[in-house]
Amino acid sequence: MNKSFAHKKAVVVGAGLVGSLWTVFLARHGYDVEVYERRSDMRTAGYSGGRSINLAMSERGWKAVEKAGIREKIEKVAIPMPGRMMHSVSGDLTFQPYGKAGEAIYSVSRGGLNLELLNIAGTYPNVRFFFDHRCADVDLENPRITFEDLKTNTLKTVEAPLIFAADGAFSAVRYAIQKTDRFNYTQFYLDHGYKELCIPPNPDGSHRLDPSALHIWPRGNFMLIALPNADGSFTCTLFLPFEGEISFEKLTDNASVDAFFRTYFSDAMAHMPTLSDDFWGNPTSSLITVKCAPWQWQNRILLIGDAAHAIVPFYGQGMNAGFEDCTILDALHDELEGDWSRIIPQFAQQRKADGDAIAELAQRNFIEMRDLVADPKFLLRKKIAAHLHERHPDFLPVYTMVTFSNTPYHVALREDDAQNHLFKQILNLENIENEWMGEGVDEVYQRWKKEG
Ligand SMILES: Cc1cc2nc3c(=O)[nH]c(=O)nc-3n(C[C@H](O)[C@H](O)[C@H](O)COP(=O)(O)OP(=O)(O)OC[C@H]3O[C@@H](n4cnc5c(N)ncnc54)[C@H](O)[C@@H]3O)c2cc1C
Repeated sequence: MNKSFAHKKAVVVGAGLVGSLWTVFLARHGYDVEVYERRSDMRTAGYSGGRSINLAMSERGWKAVEKAGIREKIEKVAIPMPGRMMHSVSGDLTFQPYGKAGEAIYSVSRGGLNLELLNIAGTYPNVRFFFDHRCADVDLENPRITFEDLKTNTLKTVEAPLIFAADGAFSAVRYAIQKTDRFNYTQFYLDHGYKELCIPPNPDGSHRLDPSALHIWPRGNFMLIALPNADGSFTCTLFLPFEGEISFEKLTDNASVDAFFRTYFSDAMAHMPTLSDDFWGNPTSSLITVKCAPWQWQNRILLIGDAAHAIVPFYGQGMNAGFEDCTILDALHDELEGDWSRIIPQFAQQRKADGDAIAELAQRNFIEMRDLVADPKFLLRKKIAAHLHERHPDFLPVYTMVTFSNTPYHVALREDDAQNHLFKQILNLENIENEWMGEGVDEVYQRWKKEG
């Protein structure tokens, strides 16, 4: 790193997934890092509770944890999911690979990953953690941040010449910037909420469903998904509208919950002995998309992770995108020799289009997961896409681009539009159900390619 920036101080607000990873990167560059986190220290307090217990990690996430030096550790407890297992109402199963042989997304424990990141950050003598500290106010002009010490109920103000706001979708730092002139901000809540449920392990500790898949029960306007955990359990998430004919508001007692699961998810329900306890014990949470710009304040404060770009979880990319923020920032730090007056504006400007693009792709994937995965035309399209990818290796299905490559998200979004156009033509070919590997498909593909 550039010596003139050695021993500079950086403040990180939020020690969630992105904040703790970014702290590791800063520490490696020799910064004195102060990390302020509202929650208690999970290294001593444990990490039970909180949102979704597991997450799907893919290429962008792996790349970042590799740079942080903890890939091997995480890999040991990550469960590969090479495809989706779709469950029909009658219990029929269809397996659909996510990519080529050897490609998989991985189920990792949110708490376990956060803990590893905190552990590794904690090994650096130049990192100081302040847990139970809530960011209460930001004095942008100076800049200084005021934290509330939640243990003593006292306020403390710290000088912060360089601030990284990794305090999530409801970022307090962003809220301070939001009040300034020409800052754009939108938030959008989905009509659907989610609730986490559980499929416990068999008595012998084994998984009750095939652990090498992400399980989906697509039911049109709603769905249930399940990701395996290393302890033999599955974390299930029910995505359902808040209101309407089939919705959370209609599930008012054990009888209605039972009837709902028996009707739509009977094969899953058979493995959910704690369903009613989980259903009433776990909150119904909302899903928000946040877009804002600029992601910075005067080259001294930078929003990263969900604080800059909170998205719906249907592409499994929120954390992956936040981790990619860290990889990109780190590369810019090297390239621009630690000159934050250039790194911050360049990052904020270059990355914004990617944040917007993955937000859009995630919304589109919601429709695909809950609805189209059960549609024969959609399954056919997936088959043809895989076939084209095999025959023409430079043709990358968009899912592959997003999940198994580091192609910028805005390029993947552009490609999604283009491929939608391609498949509209292919699926209109006569007898395509039988001729999906035929000459006709290749001709349309070649024409589409030439059109650019
Ligand atoms: C149901 C669901 C499933 C998901 N599945 C996936 C998936 O499969 N794959 C994937 O890549 N992503 C997934 N995501 C997205 C992922 O959870 C987020 O993108 C990721 O957690 C963002 O990390 P972050 O560190 O930016 O924010 P957060 O994880 O929200 O962390 C923010 C941290 O800041 C702290 N904080 C907040 N306010 C303050 C304050 N005022 N002062 C001090 N500290 C504060 C919080 O306590 C927290 O520790 C999912 C999200 C949901 C809701």
